[in-house]
Amino acid sequence: MKREIKLILLGAPGAGKGTQAEIISKKYSIPAISTGAIIRAAIKNGTEMGLAAKAYTDSGALVPDSVVIGIIKERLAEPDCERGFILDGFPRTVPQASALDEMGVEITDVISIEVADEKILERMSGRRVCKNCGATYHVKYNPSPLGDKCACGEELTVRADDDPEVVKSRLVTYHEMTEPLKDYYASKGKLKTVEGQEKLEDTTALVSAALEA
Ligand SMILES: [Zn+2]
Repeated sequence: MKREIKLILLGAPGAGKGTQAEIISKKYSIPAISTGAIIRAAIKNGTEMGLAAKAYTDSGALVPDSVVIGIIKERLAEPDCERGFILDGFPRTVPQASALDEMGVEITDVISIEVADEKILERMSGRRVCKNCGATYHVKYNPSPLGDKCACGEELTVRADDDPEVVKSRLVTYHEMTEPLKDYYASKGKLKTVEGQEKLEDTTALVSAALEA
């Protein structure tokens, strides 16, 4: 019998965390809960916490921890979470992690998908998109047959989010916030680290091994 899995997935932007969350979700039949998605859903459904969040987003402010935590609490109380869940994008900070503890949420596993910053930079800064047909390429891993041009003939461009300086600054922020979080869960004996691999399925195999160890 499979044990209960209440997992927190950590990983830098571009480390492939969201994709792994989806794969684990299917494999273990537990929901993958992405904070961004549930905040949008709570606002749309007009829950008590959703309305509170809306007041902030409407004024362009960040949704504060107390509200994000309230929304997570509402989501984790839904019946599909009884057999476990995957949290993607929460907690991001140690205070959020302690709030989860105070809620009485028993996390069973924390897996950090580790990919070297240089690797993430190479992956993201090599991406090219076509504004005409929407095709995506990678200069190294999936180059266009026409070089700087799309197969449709249009000039390829770099998405603003993939600009190396933008990626670098997001990575710095990620490490600043996440290192203390990793220490927090390591001290509770819950942290496992997995080296992100070139191939998606190789990373999935390592994540599964970490969960079944
Ligand atoms: Zn094109």
